[in-house]
Amino acid sequence: MTTINKTKVKELIQREQERYSDERPKSRALFEQAQSSLIFGVPMAGMNEWVGGFPIYVEAGNGAYLTDVDGHSYLDLCLGDSGSMCGHTPPATIDAVVKQVKKGFTYWLPTEDSIWVGKELERRFGLPYWQVYLRASDANIAALSTARDVTQRYPIIVFNGSYHGHVPESRLGLMNDKIWPEARGKHDIVEVRDGVVWRGLHAQGIEPTRTTGTRVIDFNDLDALEKALAPRDIACVLCEPAMTNVGIIMPDPGYHKELRRLTSKYGTLLIIDETHTICGGPYGYTKPWKLEPDIFSLGKPVAGGIPTAFMGISADVEKELQKHRVGKALKSIGGGTLSGNALSLAATRATLENVLTEATYEHTIALCKKLVDGVAGIIKANDMPWHVLRLGCRAEWRWSKTPPRNGKEARAAFDMDLHELVHLYFMNRGILLTPPHSMVLIPPECTSDDIDRNNSVFAEFVSELA
Ligand code: PMP
Repeated sequence: MTTINKTKVKELIQREQERYSDERPKSRALFEQAQSSLIFGVPMAGMNEWVGGFPIYVEAGNGAYLTDVDGHSYLDLCLGDSGSMCGHTPPATIDAVVKQVKKGFTYWLPTEDSIWVGKELERRFGLPYWQVYLRASDANIAALSTARDVTQRYPIIVFNGSYHGHVPESRLGLMNDKIWPEARGKHDIVEVRDGVVWRGLHAQGIEPTRTTGTRVIDFNDLDALEKALAPRDIACVLCEPAMTNVGIIMPDPGYHKELRRLTSKYGTLLIIDETHTICGGPYGYTKPWKLEPDIFSLGKPVAGGIPTAFMGISADVEKELQKHRVGKALKSIGGGTLSGNALSLAATRATLENVLTEATYEHTIALCKKLVDGVAGIIKANDMPWHVLRLGCRAEWRWSKTPPRNGKEARAAFDMDLHELVHLYFMNRGILLTPPHSMVLIPPECTSDDIDRNNSVFAEFVSELA
């Protein structure tokens, strides 16, 4: 097996970093300017996850491509971390949005599109009742509130290495992270009891007691799951069908069936978050894998990138929720004044009808298979200690010989230097990968030539290291 020369990696980082910086004087200058008005110099803190010392400033997006203020063109395989999975300029979504904006954006009153969208979401994912939000984070916050209202329990379970948005309790899944050791103990309290990590919200002064702590367990570990559920005090398990936020982690065969059985056995609700795994097809994995969640969430690309998200609930959950309704509203599931606005729903309807269709996925999944076959072939031919995985039209190569089964193993495979190098290398050759790992997502406008280009850059990258 090829051994990666760490000194060579450092040298290449320096070479590629200099090129990155030299070729982007305008982006560099804008980032310097931004320091005086924006926190950490960016409008959203996550934009600092890019390598290179400063982010690329975008001029425009078009289909699978972005251009920056320095005149470079990029094949965009990051796609706004899934927000633009439908491509940057999906014509049907744009038409619907343009039509709607001329009639107003938000009324705090429903439009007919909401009924069409609710029915379509039921057809796709099986849950009959829906609410609309602006971000998947908000849908997940509502999902946790719903689970707590219904079960009258407070603690939740998330998987080690998971991320479900700007949701304090669930963020603890990602904070147990070697990448950010400084987060440990600062924002949360960690205790291990009976092999289960208990977390409280230090920042909010909440101690990890039996009634408050978030339990963080490893994915694919059924013993840990049953141990954590057995006290019958857990409101819900919040999870993705396959993990995507420490890289792709596939469920073991039969894992979801047991997850569903055990959650039901202990009176815990199952929340499935398909915000990223909608890359798998028009039905995500909920329908194909028969996951049968009590609560479901989805955001990011669902309205072609117009801020929109959804929470769906089962008929049983809806019946229980009715009991907790006070007057006409149930405030705990409300997403905010702008949620359910006319623009979000017009964009969702057009996107579901015309973009997130069987035909689109057929095309993007076929191209993703081509990419993965190419990358796997290059890894094999050069005997690199790496692997590549595909999840629908999403793929990822990783710095370990075999795929990890949980967050702990995924972190062990993390290599900060290779990560920095591969992103710089691809950006300098006109391709954007998704930070903070080496994830690619295939947009509808992507072509076979684009995939050839990606794979030839990958081959060039490997030839420098092999
Ligand atoms: N769920 C998952 C699985 C996610 O990966 C994310 C964000 N990366 C979210 C929810 C939250 O999405 P948003 O930031 O758009 O609220």
